[in-house]
Amino acid sequence: MKQLKDFKNDIHSCSKCGLCQSVCPVYKVTGNDCTVSRGHFIMLKGLIKGEIKMSKKLNRYLDLCLKCGACSRFCPSGIDVVDIIAAAKAEYFKSSLKQKVLSFIQKRIIFGAFVDFINLFTPKAKSKTFDKKVLYFGGCSAKINGDKAVVKILNSAGIEVINPSFSCCGISLFTRGDLEGFNQSIENFVKTLKQYNIKDIVTTCASCEKSLKDYSRWTESEETKNFLKDIKVRNIYEYIKENDLKLVLKQPARVTFHKPCNIDNYDDIKWLLNNTENLEYVEMNDYDKCCGLNGISRFSEYKIMTEIFNSKRKNILKTNTKYVLTSCLGCEISLKLFSQNSYRVCDLINFIASRI
Ligand code: SF4
Ligand code: SF4
Repeated sequence: MKQLKDFKNDIHSCSKCGLCQSVCPVYKVTGNDCTVSRGHFIMLKGLIKGEIKMSKKLNRYLDLCLKCGACSRFCPSGIDVVDIIAAAKAEYFKSSLKQKVLSFIQKRIIFGAFVDFINLFTPKAKSKTFDKKVLYFGGCSAKINGDKAVVKILNSAGIEVINPSFSCCGISLFTRGDLEGFNQSIENFVKTLKQYNIKDIVTTCASCEKSLKDYSRWTESEETKNFLKDIKVRNIYEYIKENDLKLVLKQPARVTFHKPCNIDNYDDIKWLLNNTENLEYVEMNDYDKCCGLNGISRFSEYKIMTEIFNSKRKNILKTNTKYVLTSCLGCEISLKLFSQNSYRVCDLINFIASRI
């Protein structure tokens, strides 16, 4: 498994130019260099050299990072901050009993008997049979939003949906630094996948998509890495565009869209929004800026995260639309929780499927 010291060269390649400060939503609020990549890398360099020790304070700075990747896209040295933060979080995880206890409880919830129990109450939608088949990774999102929308839309494109009960993608374990727990998610995924002879996987949640795409880089097992080489993970929007699927809403609707940090192919989403008949898409300013959920930090760093959320809210309100659509369960919850009833939040696929 990758460790922080494996990222030594990436960390050293930071030129300290400070350009990351200009795009980092957290730095914009705090003005503190310790909360942005440049500062993170200075501290982590010291940690690798043994000049400083991992501490609660350092972990707090790591936790403040939204993992939005805005700085990586802007960084002249092309440093992938998200992987480095994960490896640094793993260092803290090793030394923190509290984190281990929280992770233990979390794993009891997201794996095993509890999930089997929830599955009893989330019956699978029945897919039509077609030659072209795709495997749907619903993750926790499907347990809450259901899978009817995916089946309805992909069936209308002549694609059969195979829909096993996968367990959680493990993103929350990854961000906590519990890389062992994350590896358990990877092995659960592979175990389920081996029961089917399908290499095409489709997701609807941005966080699941990111995790699944990261699996081959973080697995501890060479056998798993080889198995994952042939697996193609895509989100449903790519599929819809690829199949040139023309959807028509029964009633006109005016919507805006919040792009989750973990989704890359906004162009496919935009294509769907602009090519669905009776759907008027209003692009909000900074549609791709983080909603400020950032896991538990939404509450432990309430003031900072609320300030980040407030600029998102302002941009939503400016669009004058009734609906904010998104494609990540976390973003959906965050946007809903703090909406103050001024707009309605819905998963994009569910919104369209329920209106065609
Ligand atoms: S933009 Fe990249 S190279 Fe420049 S300070 Fe930030 S992390 Fe370092
Ligand atoms: S990933 Fe986002 S929040 Fe984290 S340092 Fe980069 S820009 Fe800031």
